[in-house]
Amino acid sequence: MKSHAEDTAHLEAMRDAFGDKIDLRLDYNQALQPFGAISVLRDVDRFRPTFIEQPVPRDCLTAMASFADALDTPILADESCFDARDLMEVIRLQAADAISVKLMKVGGILKGQALMAIADAAHLPGYGGTLWEGGVALAAGTQFIAATPGMSLGCEFYMPHHVLTEDVLEERIENRDGHVIVPTGPGLGITISEASLRGNARILKEA
Ligand SMILES: [Mg+2]
Repeated sequence: MKSHAEDTAHLEAMRDAFGDKIDLRLDYNQALQPFGAISVLRDVDRFRPTFIEQPVPRDCLTAMASFADALDTPILADESCFDARDLMEVIRLQAADAISVKLMKVGGILKGQALMAIADAAHLPGYGGTLWEGGVALAAGTQFIAATPGMSLGCEFYMPHHVLTEDVLEERIENRDGHVIVPTGPGLGITISEASLRGNARILKEA
C-alpha cells in the first residue's frame, strides 16, 4: 500500500492535469483502520472523488456510517456487501451511500437482481464489478448491469484478455472509449469456441 502522501500527490497531479474532466473513484480495499481514518478521508475528500470505496474492514459498519455522515464524498460498500443479508445491515446502520455488486460475490444474476431491488428501494445506487473471471461470467455480468434498475454508477471490469492468454469465446466482449459494449445476440450474447474448449480439455486431461 502506498503512503497517504503519495496518494494525495497522485490525486493532486491528476486534478491539476485534467481538472474536472475526469471521474476519480478511490478504492481503499479495507486498508485503513477506523482509528485515524477520518483525517485521511477528509484529506482526499477535497479532490472531489465520485466515491470512496470500502475505506475500512468489512465488519466496521459503524465507522463506515460515521464517514458517510461526515464527508461530502459518498461512501461505497464493496467487501461490506456480498449479499442481501449484508445489505440489510448496511441499510439499517446507514453505513454506505452506494454498493458494489459483483456476480461472483452475490452468487449469480437472480441474486444480483434481488440485491439491487432492495438497494434501489433504499435509494442506494449500484456499481458493477468483476473478479478476474473469464468471458462467460463477464458476459453474464455485462447483461446483469445493462438490465438491472439502480446500477447507475457504471462498472469497473477486468477484461479476460488482460489476464488470460486464451478465453473460450469466439469473440471477446469489446470495450470502447472506456465503455463495455453489451453483446446483442440471444442469451448472454456470446458464442463458445468449441475448438478452444476441446483444446483446453485435452490439455487438462494430459496434465
Ligand atoms: Mg473494491
